[in-house]
Amino acid sequence: MTYDFNNIFAKILRGEISCNKVYEDNKVLAFYDINPQAPAHVLVIPKKDYINFHDFVENAPADLIQHFFKTVAKISQDLNLIETGYRIISNCGNNGGQEVPHFHVHLCGGKKLGKIC
Ligand code: AMP
Repeated sequence: MTYDFNNIFAKILRGEISCNKVYEDNKVLAFYDINPQAPAHVLVIPKKDYINFHDFVENAPADLIQHFFKTVAKISQDLNLIETGYRIISNCGNNGGQEVPHFHVHLCGGKKLGKIC
């Protein structure tokens, strides 16, 4: 499977589509999901072209993987979700229900969440 540079998150990264930004540094971008499933529903993406969780963990350098997940944790803290709790999800591939083929983590909180499956 090859990376599709026309996916919507690639367009957001190139500035062709706007997003409601929560956090940005030189390696990671986070923005609010356009169709939120919780009061706080943020998508966190690396700025490089990884298709999904598997591709990211298999092929990204270790320092980027560490930075990415530490940034997810930092954003959860910035959104005051630590005490009440939150969920991170990464849909991977067809059976995982992944719609956008650019690796992303959903960070959801702000209410008591239901079961996953
Ligand atoms: P997934 O099913 O894990 O690939 O999730 C893709 C997510 O991207 C969905 O929750 C969508 O609501 C969200 N989404 C799609 N387009 C946009 C957009 N332009 N800005 C923000 N979120 C988006």
